[in-house]
Amino acid sequence: MAYTYDPENIFAKILRGEIPNRTVMETEHTLAFEDIYPQAPIHVLVIPKGPYVTYDHFASDASDAEILDYTRTVAAICKKLGVEGDGWRMISNAGQNGVQEVPHLHVHILGGRGLGRMLAKV
Ligand code: 5GP
Repeated sequence: MAYTYDPENIFAKILRGEIPNRTVMETEHTLAFEDIYPQAPIHVLVIPKGPYVTYDHFASDASDAEILDYTRTVAAICKKLGVEGDGWRMISNAGQNGVQEVPHLHVHILGGRGLGRMLAKV
């Protein structure tokens, strides 16, 4: 399917500087900031600056430079946050079944406590 990007989503507004964020790291193609409703002591969102809706959209359509920058930034954030030792989790929700709230690709980086099993039964 083809993804349609909505430039009025909240992360697009953050990227345009229309609403504030607590930035953890910024590079040419990537922005990382603290989640406004943290679900763990460490809860950081990592977004590409380009208009991608989901991870598969990004992985399919982004340039090599964007993908490299995004991936390396995740590594740099893990190092900065010091989560390698105790462990951490990366989540990327997509679409209706994934219960994606904001339609701009983001990965959640969660850590700082035991995170339990991957999925709860619903
Ligand atoms: P999703 O359910 O789409 O994977 O996650 C969206 C995340 O964005 C949620 O964890 C939510 O707390 C976070 N969020 C929503 N609005 C804002 C905002 O304005 N600022 C920040 N920093 N995080 C937000």
